[in-house]
Amino acid sequence: MDLLEYQAKELFREMGIPVLPSQRIDRPKDLKGLTIPYPVVLKSQVYIGGRGRVGGVRFVENTIDAVAAAQTIFNLPIMGEYPKVLLAEAKYNADREFYLAVVLNRSIRRPVLLGSQQGGIDVQAAMDQMQHVIVEREFSPYYARRLALKMGLQGDLMISVASILEKMYRLFVQKDLDLVEINPLGVSPSEAVMALDGKVTVNDDALARHPSLAALLETQDKASFEPLTELPVMMEADGQIGILCNGAGLTMATMDLICQAGGKPASFLNIGGETQWNSSPDGLRQRLERGLELMTQTRQVRVLLVNLVSSLIPCDEIAKVITAFLRHRIRELRGVSEIRPDTLITHTLRIPQMVVRLVGSECDRAKTQLANAQVTIVDTLDDAVAQTIVLAKSVARNS
Ligand code: GDP
Ligand code: MN
Repeated sequence: MDLLEYQAKELFREMGIPVLPSQRIDRPKDLKGLTIPYPVVLKSQVYIGGRGRVGGVRFVENTIDAVAAAQTIFNLPIMGEYPKVLLAEAKYNADREFYLAVVLNRSIRRPVLLGSQQGGIDVQAAMDQMQHVIVEREFSPYYARRLALKMGLQGDLMISVASILEKMYRLFVQKDLDLVEINPLGVSPSEAVMALDGKVTVNDDALARHPSLAALLETQDKASFEPLTELPVMMEADGQIGILCNGAGLTMATMDLICQAGGKPASFLNIGGETQWNSSPDGLRQRLERGLELMTQTRQVRVLLVNLVSSLIPCDEIAKVITAFLRHRIRELRGVSEIRPDTLITHTLRIPQMVVRLVGSECDRAKTQLANAQVTIVDTLDDAVAQTIVLAKSVARNS
């Protein structure tokens, strides 16, 4: 199970990993008693990442703005999850953001140190630059320094990053953790480093040995939300097709049909079936939104096949989520292109061509909506597969 950011940061603080002064906020009016000087950052405490992108992280300059922003964040579900608390933290002036992690690799049964100079909210950029070092024998500071060097760091910054990695590793071992992640590690203009966000995954089987962690987790109520915990599964490096479905069976069947028809999937994502989740209409909307975001962040995906079977909400509601998502993306793209027209085609913000097949009620309405949004909408799965292959071929020809 995961800890919330403020809980992870408590562990960091105990371990001597640099964190900013912060205060837990249980209700907006707590901000009137804030002891941290402004400017302050307010952060939604939810289990899902990507809060920055959707308005769950806000900077404020004074108490009036802080109370208003807190109200907004408390009422903003992230992937269907409402925060129960916020974290108020001093603002940090970072001009670079790194990614650092210590993770248990179960297939080789060893801890691995991970690091990238491209941390922050662009996951793809971090992945492109990711370096790793496997801790093959008993840990020594040498492993941490090797990773910092592989990341391309030198001098004092190399030493301070290595020292943080060492502390992360010690925390990882002491508390039997599955993951300790800092993203971003803020680097100031004078090369001071600060953990701006933290993620800790506890090994549930080791909880008996760690009563303090068990106590933290006991206060969690997991039934009230349904985050999208899955990530797109990467397939072929030269594939161009993305597949987004709800339910494992549907996902696999769609994938098989695409492959049989000669298509090359780049990745697929199951946003969760209706039966295995304690599903709510809102949860489905949020998971679809998040799924679209994740799939369109993957650069290889040039054609996205969305195949959903819904009894929770009518198809026109699903179509609404898709069109709203596209409208938002197009606005973002325009924003980018106004600044740097050349980044338009190559960037992660690129919008793939979409083929959509929906099963459920109100399908005709959905069709009208999606046709206006320049999305190919089809009735049968066979048609969806055929259309996807046609588009993928034309994309491959044009690139
Ligand atoms: P996430 O989007 O859920 O991973 O939330 P983060 O805590 O990583 O915050 C998102 C982004 O907000 C970060 O990548 C930073 O760019 C920025 N951020 C968060 N906290 C601070 C802070 O204290 N100071 C500054 N300057 N930026 C911050
Ligand atoms: Mn983060």
